[in-house]
Amino acid sequence: MFNPIDWFLGLFSFDIGIDLGTANTLVHVIREGIVIEEPSVVAIDRSGHRRNRVRAIGREAREMVGRTPAHIMAVRPLQDGVISDFDVTEKMIHHFIGKVHGNRILGGARPRVVIGIPSGVTEVETRAVREAVLRAGAREVQLVEEPLAAAIGAGLPVAESIGSMIVDIGGGTTEVAVISLGGIVVSRSIRVAGDEMNEDIINFARQKYNLLIGERMAERCKVEIGSAYPMEQERTVFLRGRNLITGLPEATEVSSIEVREALSGSLEVIVEAVRGTLDETPPELMADLMEYGIVLAGGGALLQGLAQRIQDESHINVYVAENPLTSVAVGTGMVLERPDYYRDTLTGGQRRGLR
Ligand code: ADP
Ligand code: MG
Repeated sequence: MFNPIDWFLGLFSFDIGIDLGTANTLVHVIREGIVIEEPSVVAIDRSGHRRNRVRAIGREAREMVGRTPAHIMAVRPLQDGVISDFDVTEKMIHHFIGKVHGNRILGGARPRVVIGIPSGVTEVETRAVREAVLRAGAREVQLVEEPLAAAIGAGLPVAESIGSMIVDIGGGTTEVAVISLGGIVVSRSIRVAGDEMNEDIINFARQKYNLLIGERMAERCKVEIGSAYPMEQERTVFLRGRNLITGLPEATEVSSIEVREALSGSLEVIVEAVRGTLDETPPELMADLMEYGIVLAGGGALLQGLAQRIQDESHINVYVAENPLTSVAVGTGMVLERPDYYRDTLTGGQRRGLR
C-alpha cells in the first residue's frame, strides 16, 4: 500500500541489500522490498576492436545464451561460488545498483549497502566486492555471509543463543551452516547444487537416449518433474534435442523415476554435507536443531521431495523457507533495518567470525 511518509523518505535515502548469487542477483530496497531479481549473467563481446565490451547484463544477457554469434559470450562470474572475473563482477554490481539509483528522483542520494557473499570467497575477493560496491556509488558497504543472510531472511533466530541450521541450495554451491549468536559455528560449502543437477540430466539424456539437450531444457525438466523422493504420482515430460546418431531433432519422453535416478549422485552429496555438518555440531546446539528443525533455502529447496529426503536421512524435521529464492535478499534488508541487533553477522571490520 502507498505510504506517503515512506515515499518521502525514499527520496533521500535508499538503503539496499544485495544477494550476489551464483545464479541470480537480487536487490532489496528498504521499505520497498525486492526491486531487482535477475540472472547473474553478463554477455561480453570478445570480437576485435570491441574486445571485452559488455553487451547485456541480467535477463537480457541470459536470453542471448546460445542465440548469439560466436564472439559474444555469456559469462556467469560467480558460477562456482568464487569470483572468476573481478572486472565482470564489478560491472554487474555497478549495473544493478545503477538501475535502482536511476529510478530515484534525487539521483544524488548515496545508498548504504549490505551485500551477501558466498561464504567460500577469499579475503581478496571480499575486498574486491567491497571496492566494487563503493565505486558503484555506495556511501557505506557491509558484507554478510550468505548462509547467515539466508537464515535471517528465513526467520531463524540467528542472533539468539539458539542453534539453527540452514541449507542454502543455489545454482553453483550448496552451503550448510549451523548458526548461533550471529555467527557460523560449523559449516560446509560444496560445489554441488542446481547447476550440477542440470548437468546430471544432460548426461542422462545423452547416455540413455543418445539425445543432446541444452542446459535450459535440462533445467525445465528438473523444475517440472525433478524430485528427491518417490512422488505420489510419478510424471513424464518430453525432452527436445538432437539425436547424436541420426543428427536429427527428436523429442523423447522421460519419467520422473528415471530423472530422480539421474539426480541421485548429486543428491547423495548434498545429504552427505548435511550429515557431515551435523556430525561436527556441538551437542547443545544439536538439541536445538532437534527441537526447531533444519530450514532449506535457495532455489534448490524447491526440488520436490528434497525436504522429505533430508528429513529421512538426518532424523531431524526439515522445512522449506517460505520464499527460498528471496531469503538472502530479504535477510540483507533485515540487517539494514536492525544494524545493531545483527551487528555480529557482518563480515570485515566488525566481524567476530566463528568460521
Ligand atoms: P544462487 O543463490 O546461487 O544464485 P538461487 O538460490 O537463485 O541460486 O537458485 C538457483 C537454482 O535453483 C538454479 O539451479 C535453479 O535451477 C534452481 N531452481 C529454481 N526453481 C527450482 C525448482 N522449482 N525446482 C528445482 N530447482 C529449482
Ligand atoms: Mg543464493
